[in-house]
Amino acid sequence: MPAEKIDTLVVGAGQAGVAMSEHLSRHGIPHLVLERDRIAERWRTGRWDSLVANGPAWHDRFPGLEFTDTDPDAFPAKERIADYFVDYAKKIGAPIRCGVEVTSVERKAGAPGFRVETSQGPIEALNVVAATGAFQTPVIPSLVPQDTSVTQIHSFDYRNPGQLPAGAVMVVGAGSSGAQIAEELLGSGRRVYLSVGPHDRPPRAYRGRDYCWWLGVLGKWDVEAMEPGKEHVTISVSGAHGGHTVDFRRFAAQGMTLVGRTQKFENGVLSFAPDLADNLAEGDAYYLWMLKEADAWAERNGMDLPEEPEAYVIGPDPDCVTDPILSLDLAEAGVTSIVWATGYSRDYSWLKVDTFDAQGVPRHQRGVSLEPGIYFLGLPWQSRRGSTFIWGVWHDAKHVADHIATQRSYRQYRGPAEREAEDAKSSTAAE
Ligand SMILES: Cc1cc2nc3c(=O)[nH]c(=O)nc-3n(C[C@H](O)[C@H](O)[C@H](O)COP(=O)(O)OP(=O)(O)OC[C@H]3O[C@@H](n4cnc5c(N)ncnc54)[C@H](O)[C@@H]3O)c2cc1C
Repeated sequence: MPAEKIDTLVVGAGQAGVAMSEHLSRHGIPHLVLERDRIAERWRTGRWDSLVANGPAWHDRFPGLEFTDTDPDAFPAKERIADYFVDYAKKIGAPIRCGVEVTSVERKAGAPGFRVETSQGPIEALNVVAATGAFQTPVIPSLVPQDTSVTQIHSFDYRNPGQLPAGAVMVVGAGSSGAQIAEELLGSGRRVYLSVGPHDRPPRAYRGRDYCWWLGVLGKWDVEAMEPGKEHVTISVSGAHGGHTVDFRRFAAQGMTLVGRTQKFENGVLSFAPDLADNLAEGDAYYLWMLKEADAWAERNGMDLPEEPEAYVIGPDPDCVTDPILSLDLAEAGVTSIVWATGYSRDYSWLKVDTFDAQGVPRHQRGVSLEPGIYFLGLPWQSRRGSTFIWGVWHDAKHVADHIATQRSYRQYRGPAEREAEDAKSSTAAE
């Protein structure tokens, strides 16, 4: 089958692929976006039923379109977010082809560009943008064998409490997913254990402003790299029920049992690191640091925002923190299921080019890979903290499109002799 030819091929039509299309169009670069499912599929079918955006509608969007039917301070439901990207793609006339999977991308030998194999035939492209995001393959640590009697699912496959067998639930991971799922399960009347690792826990709102606004004015979304010696930790936030601060002590007061990081499983017994108090203390430190930064900013800028001194009060540690459980016999505790809210890894097995390190991590600068013509979008910390989020990816897409446009202009350059030859050719043709 003869290969279809295109300047730039974008793989994936989540928010990253849609943003990429907008910026490529602005440069007038011919492109095609291939999506194996539907536009923004992950928002539709890769999340639990009750999920809403972690940020308010005025914030979690692209600059070119507002959520017209949603209060700007409300948190849109996941389906609404998926619809938003479908509407956005329509508005910008994005050339998206759904139901087409890219199965391999390889550099052409002795010619510019790449040979792309897809489920609907080959394509040749000068550039390929991998806009497949940071949340590709759910990761479950290999701790509890699959053949134990306990049901195990990843947060990717969690839908609602009714899906789990009767009994207590162990939720592992206290980022936004783990915290929100654990809270939902507790609210449904389940007995819940929550394994809490390191996390950042911002206040949902402070002095009348959402934390998204505070991180914006404080320049924290734009921080380009983690502090040296620090590892990336997840932000634990929730837009559920109109949005509220994730407060693990409140969860405990409502009956949830908190434990430290899950470490081992042996003979039906899960063991936890003795780090629960430290993890909570670090989450609190981040929370208090944000309040102080916000106060300092308000004062420096003479902003007359309502004072909120009570926000500084952190409640007493519950018993499960002062006297932590270090091991739990799952059968004795009536735990019949485990929800692993333990994050995602990448899958670039289809991208057969030379820009990955030994661990398969893309090597790149702000999405521009080491293999000329190959680009990434939606990676964690691609250019800044906000890179994996809706508003952040739009800015990264602009940078990637600018780079592609610059490279095109180099490729289109003709030296004096070539220009002379072309001029001669066109004047002969005109005679
Ligand atoms: C539970 C959860 C909640 C989140 N909530 C928020 C939030 O409230 N606000 C926010 O800003 N961010 C949020 N995020 C982060 C981020 O915005 C989302 O994960 C978002 O879906 C990432 O978009 P993306 O386009 O980078 O990747 P994805 O949405 O994963 O899109 C990638 C697309 O690529 C397609 N694809 C993959 N491989 C191929 C292939 N080989 N060929 C063709 N197509 C392919 C997939 O089908 C998919 O549609 C959340 C993330 C998670 C996991």
